[in-house]
Amino acid sequence: MIQLFKEKSNCCGCTACMNICPRNSITMEKDEEGFLYPVIDVNTCIRCMACVKVCAFHNKEYNEKIPGDQEVFALKHPDRDVRERSSSGGAFTLISDYVLAQGGSIYGAVFNESFEVIHSKACNRKQRDKMRGSKYVQSNLGSIFKEVKSELETGKPVLFTGTPCQTGGLKSYLGREYTGLILCDIVCHGGPSPKVWEDYRTYLEGKYRDKIRDINFRNKDSGWRNSFLKVEFNRSVYKKSMQEDPYYILFFSHLIIRPSCHQCVYTSYHRESDITLADFWGIENTGKAFPDDDTGVSLVLVNTKKGKDLIQSIRKDSEMVKSSHSAFYQPIFERPSKISPRRPLFWKEYFAKGNAALVKYGKLTATQWMIKKIIVPVLKKTGLYNRVVKICYSSWLCKDKQFREQ
Ligand SMILES: Cc1cc2nc3c(=O)[nH]c(=O)nc-3n(C[C@H](O)[C@H](O)[C@H](O)COP(=O)(O)OP(=O)(O)OC[C@H]3O[C@@H](n4cnc5c(N)ncnc54)[C@H](O)[C@@H]3O)c2cc1C
Repeated sequence: MIQLFKEKSNCCGCTACMNICPRNSITMEKDEEGFLYPVIDVNTCIRCMACVKVCAFHNKEYNEKIPGDQEVFALKHPDRDVRERSSSGGAFTLISDYVLAQGGSIYGAVFNESFEVIHSKACNRKQRDKMRGSKYVQSNLGSIFKEVKSELETGKPVLFTGTPCQTGGLKSYLGREYTGLILCDIVCHGGPSPKVWEDYRTYLEGKYRDKIRDINFRNKDSGWRNSFLKVEFNRSVYKKSMQEDPYYILFFSHLIIRPSCHQCVYTSYHRESDITLADFWGIENTGKAFPDDDTGVSLVLVNTKKGKDLIQSIRKDSEMVKSSHSAFYQPIFERPSKISPRRPLFWKEYFAKGNAALVKYGKLTATQWMIKKIIVPVLKKTGLYNRVVKICYSSWLCKDKQFREQ
C-alpha cells in the first residue's frame, strides 16, 4: 500500500497529491486536531505513484539559511486606509491591483460565511478585498490547484498567494512554468488548527450570547506594532491584544500549529515563489528616509525575474525604498518554529475538557508575563528594545521561550 507520509510532521496538507491523482482516489480528511491529511482509497488507487512524486514537502530540502541575492524592499501602500486594513504595509493590495488591471485573477485566503478560512478566487477589487488581512488559521485549499491550472491554460494572468507550503505545493502540482502565473508567498511561522479556531468562535459567541458579524486579526486602532484581534458581534465588540487574547497566546506559544510547521522545509531564504511578503520588523532602524507612522510597512523579497518586473511595474504607485537583508529581523527564514514542550499536554487536556483547556493554556505563563509586561515596556522606554530583540531572536532565549513581537 502507498504510504504518503510516515509521520504527520511530514505532511503540510498542501493538497498537491489529492489534486494530481488521476483517479480521484485521494480525499483530504480532518484528524483529531482539525488538520487535513490525504487519505487514499485503496479500492480505486492504481498505484501510479503520482501522489508520492508530487510531494514537494517530502522530497525537497532547502539548506540556504543565509541571505540569498534577492532584492529587498520596504514598501507602503500610499493610501493610509488600505494600510490600516492590511496586516503589514498593503503590498498584497498593490500587487493584486496590478494583476487585476491586466485582466487576471487572484487566489488567496478569505473567511467564508461561517468564518472558516478557505482559499478562493477574486476577479475584481471587491472580491479581492476579502483576501486582505492575515487570517491566523491554516486555510482549506479544497481543489483550488485544479482551478488555478485550468485558468492558466486559458492564458490569463493569475496571482496565487498563500503560505510557502501552499505556493510550493502548487508549483509542484503544476509541474511546469506558466508565463501568466505569479506566485506570492507570505512569511509564515505556522498555520494554526482550524478546529481550535472553530471552537474558539463558538466559545466567544456563547460568552457574548451573540453572532459574529466580522473578524479582524490585525486591527490597527492602536498601531501596527500593537495589533488586536477584533471580533464584531451584532450588538457588541471583542477586542484583545496579542498578549491578552487566548487564541493568540495559544498560537504564539506554538501549542496549536500544524506538526509539519515545526519541521518546515520552506524556512529558508530560498523561496519557491516570485515574491515574498512579510512585516518589515526593524524598519525604525533604517533611518528617516522612510517615514513610519505605525500603520504598517511591508517587507518585500524579490526572488525571480518575474517578481522583479512586477515590482518595477508597481513602483510608481507605491512608497518603496530599497533595503537589505540586514535591515529586518525574521528568524523564520533560518529555522522553523520550535515545538512547545507543553503541546502534548495541551491537546490531551483539550480533548478531555474542550474550551476549559483553551482558556487555561490561553494565558501567559509567569515568564511570558514578565517579559511582555515588565521587560519589554522598560526596554521600549530606554530605547534598547530593537537591539535586544534582534539579539534575542538568534539566541537561546527566543528559541526556547518562543517570544516574538509578531
Ligand atoms: C498563518 C500566518 C503566519 C504568519 N506569520 C508571519 C510571520 O511570522 N512574520 C511575518 O512578518 N509575517 C507573517 N505572516 C504574514 C503577514 O501577517 C502578512 O500577511 C503579510 O505580510 C502580507 O501583508 P500585506 O499587508 O501585504 O497584505 P494583506 O492585505 O494583509 O494580505 C494578506 C495576504 O495574506 C494571505 N493570507 C491571509 N491569511 C492566510 C492564510 N491563513 N493562509 C494563506 N494565506 C493567507 C491573503 O491571501 C493575502 O494574500 C503570517 C501570515 C499568516 C496567515
